[in-house]
Amino acid sequence: MKPIYYGKHNITEQDIQAVTEVLNSDFLTQGPAVKEFEEKFAKYVGAKYAVAVTNGTDALHLCNLSLGVKRGDKIITTPITFVASANSVLYCGGEIDFVDINPETYTLDLDKLEEKLLSHPIGTYKGVIPVDFAGYPVDVERLRAIANKYNLWIIEDACHAPGGYFIDSKKNMQLCGNGQYSDLQIFSFHPVKHIATGEGGMVTTNNKELFNKLKLLSSHGITKDESLLNENHGAWYYEMQELGYNYRLSDLNCALGISQLKRANKGVRRRNEIANKYNQAFKDLEIIRPLVKENIYHAYHLYIIQIEDRKALYAFLRKHNIFTQVHYIPVHYHTYYKNKGWKKGDFPIAENYYENCLSLPMFPTLTEEEQDFVIEKVIEFLNF
Ligand SMILES: *Cc1c(COP(=O)(O)O)cnc(C)c1O
Repeated sequence: MKPIYYGKHNITEQDIQAVTEVLNSDFLTQGPAVKEFEEKFAKYVGAKYAVAVTNGTDALHLCNLSLGVKRGDKIITTPITFVASANSVLYCGGEIDFVDINPETYTLDLDKLEEKLLSHPIGTYKGVIPVDFAGYPVDVERLRAIANKYNLWIIEDACHAPGGYFIDSKKNMQLCGNGQYSDLQIFSFHPVKHIATGEGGMVTTNNKELFNKLKLLSSHGITKDESLLNENHGAWYYEMQELGYNYRLSDLNCALGISQLKRANKGVRRRNEIANKYNQAFKDLEIIRPLVKENIYHAYHLYIIQIEDRKALYAFLRKHNIFTQVHYIPVHYHTYYKNKGWKKGDFPIAENYYENCLSLPMFPTLTEEEQDFVIEKVIEFLNF
């Protein structure tokens, strides 16, 4: 059996064809593929606007910039996420704070968030960055109500959840990243994620003003829009109005993204099939499986189990060429954050989760045979 990894991208002949067409065209970057990808992606997640950017981390940075995060601003996120969710605030001079996770959904605990907000004067915190962790949609409807009460903005880190959704209290389906309740939403197109463009990312929003700001800041703060210019020297003229960055995604990446997007829905359905099979196979075992709630559609970027002897299972599977992974080392455990004063014991639910979690192989091209083998080995380990 070939090695089986926890995640894997999938490139088809059509994908290659799409990129080749760009290579033979007049534009390698800033051409028509960028706009097409932005429009199609916005439509896919149900948002009004989208801005393609160089990667998910830059998407986060850009969001913080657009919302005006500055020195001393305090922002809250979850300790169980990729470090970029927290780092992005620090890039702007802001300060990050954490709220522990819910033990069932592994996402930011909204009760604990309210408790924390309640114990500080309004205005102490400027914003919150929830993560649709593993593909589990955060209850952004409830989060919006909390955010309104305490005057916070919301950047939804939806890197794990394109295609996921929840049914809100009005019985409406709310796709992750549609911007119905959050101000800004971000995605990554790193090959381990649902849609691969090499490196790549996207910000979505329904707010026109924020959209214009994102556009401006993603391209050096330069505009050519005649209606926005302070002067106009002629057709060649452009103005740099703010200190922006070059966070533009190229047409090569976008062409790949457009092609991948065509299979995105199918991919999420396949991920759910795989999850159901794992859930079924493990239902009588001493394994904590992902929570399946009726009002959510999980995007299953990751299939995470919790098992007491995680370290041994990791090693056992590895011996059989099954390469699982741990998502994630709590952000506050990292040296950089420890040096800022965080320590073990600060977020006990997240820490306990980390001790036991393991991400099993989960990607649309995982074969039945491969999944059967993974299941067989997990069961063999437990019965040993
Ligand atoms: C992947 C990921 C990011 C960062 O995306 P990159 O494209 O790798 O920069 C941020 N947040 C989460 C939750 C992620 O999974």
